[in-house]
Amino acid sequence: MNCRVRFAPSPTGPLHIGGLRTALYNYLFAKKHGGQFILRIEDTDSQRFVPGAEAYITEALRWCGLQPDEGVAEGGPHAPYRQSERKAIYKQYADELIAKDMAYYAFDTAETLEKLRKEAESRGEAFAYNAACRKQLQTSLALPAEEVKARLERGEAYVIRFRTPENRTVEMDDLIRGHLQVNTDTLDDKVLYKSADGLPTYHLANIVDDHLMQITHVIRGEEWLPSLPLHYLLYEAFGWQDSRPAFAHLPLLLKPQGQGKLSKRDGDKFGFPVFPLVWHDPKSGEISKGYREEGYFPEAVVNMLALLGWNPGTEQELFPLDELAEAFSLEKVSKAGARFNPEKARWFNAQYLRMRPDEELGKLILKDLQARYGQTDAAKTQAITGSTASEIAGLFKERVCFPAEITDWAAMLYVRPDKYTENGIKKFDKPENREALRQVIDFMKQKSAGPWAGAGAGMGVGRSAGVGSIMENDTLAFIRGKGYPMGQVMSLFRLALTGDAQGPNVFPLVAFMGMDEAAARTEALLNKTL
Ligand code: GLU
Repeated sequence: MNCRVRFAPSPTGPLHIGGLRTALYNYLFAKKHGGQFILRIEDTDSQRFVPGAEAYITEALRWCGLQPDEGVAEGGPHAPYRQSERKAIYKQYADELIAKDMAYYAFDTAETLEKLRKEAESRGEAFAYNAACRKQLQTSLALPAEEVKARLERGEAYVIRFRTPENRTVEMDDLIRGHLQVNTDTLDDKVLYKSADGLPTYHLANIVDDHLMQITHVIRGEEWLPSLPLHYLLYEAFGWQDSRPAFAHLPLLLKPQGQGKLSKRDGDKFGFPVFPLVWHDPKSGEISKGYREEGYFPEAVVNMLALLGWNPGTEQELFPLDELAEAFSLEKVSKAGARFNPEKARWFNAQYLRMRPDEELGKLILKDLQARYGQTDAAKTQAITGSTASEIAGLFKERVCFPAEITDWAAMLYVRPDKYTENGIKKFDKPENREALRQVIDFMKQKSAGPWAGAGAGMGVGRSAGVGSIMENDTLAFIRGKGYPMGQVMSLFRLALTGDAQGPNVFPLVAFMGMDEAAARTEALLNKTL
């Protein structure tokens, strides 16, 4: 199948994750069918233009790996891909519709329209510019031809409006929603072009560009569904109905509680980002959180978004981008809105974090580790290097969702506990456990001065490479041989080392911090009455 899709954002602010999902579905659809994914910037609404928004969109796509085949930066056979740079193209199309009597000039001032809106409101109605009023207002359908001509020659400001056909049923098809029908009497005469800035509106520019750029499938958010009848009518008016693209309107992303569209405010309220990258609003100075800066991996964000509204039809949940492209199909996109689940977002991140090699995670946390623990005694005897950082990543990566949490966990390696959890004391600080732990630590001290030392135990080389396991095997055998209650003793041991009876396996911790440090921490607890 020849397939050309476009992501056509307006640079009116940062890209919401719902918009990012639209971009993703377009990308996946293109990849699946060996087609092209096009990035077109729809910046014809100069009033809503926000500086920096386009750069934000481009960077967000890059971060997620959604590389356009054609676009503002990439160029392509239909360049330019920024609508403001295509300004000269659109007017002729508006003129063509005027010539065909399918559009008309309207000279109404903003004040007139405001007045009409207010009047309608006071009657409890919404004002619609349509067949009922187009012949009463300042339009080329109502005014004498000479006057229209004179006004145009004088350079009076006007808009061109689409002349919606009366009482016709528009029959439409949507790849997700099936067959749809709308009576044209429910539509108003949308503005297609404004003389004030010489720019087309979204509707005209969008249809003209989709046609000129030979777009085959329009995949976009549900909020554009009400525009579909007009778009069908425009294709027909231009005589392009045979090459009209297929449409797919994606379901909304809903709030975590289910009702209503996921908004920026939900993110602020529940503490999760709704934007892929951090956004500094140029007007208000407000800062909105981004997934990237919160420690999310792009693969996790992409994977999570893919499954919000689409399902593979199997139990599989983890899909790297290339596998998504393989599995994706519009038939499996649901009609119903998809509820955003911040917990699930964290879960995906945890999965992708675990898949990362320790070295790579180590690189991500090295600076933070040095900043937080570089001045501790332990770090003074043993500098925090790249290999220390990857070792630390290996120790804790199964327990965290974000790289920064690894740095938090590392506190137990560098800082002696100054208190013990109450629960830990209550459950495990018993005379018989203390006695057993004293025996255990004496055994370990003795061994580490002898046989374990040869294997490189203690702070230094090769400690996690198997040394932990020699230490572990010998110590566990000792505990078993003595008949000590394993769980009790190990929990008290952990409490002594970290301040918490629950947590990671103690032997890699001992191997990391060194026998002397481990013994000192253990003896500190054993010499104290808690
Ligand atoms: N410029 C529109 C937007 O901001 C594009 C809608 C469409 O894809 O047709 O979302």
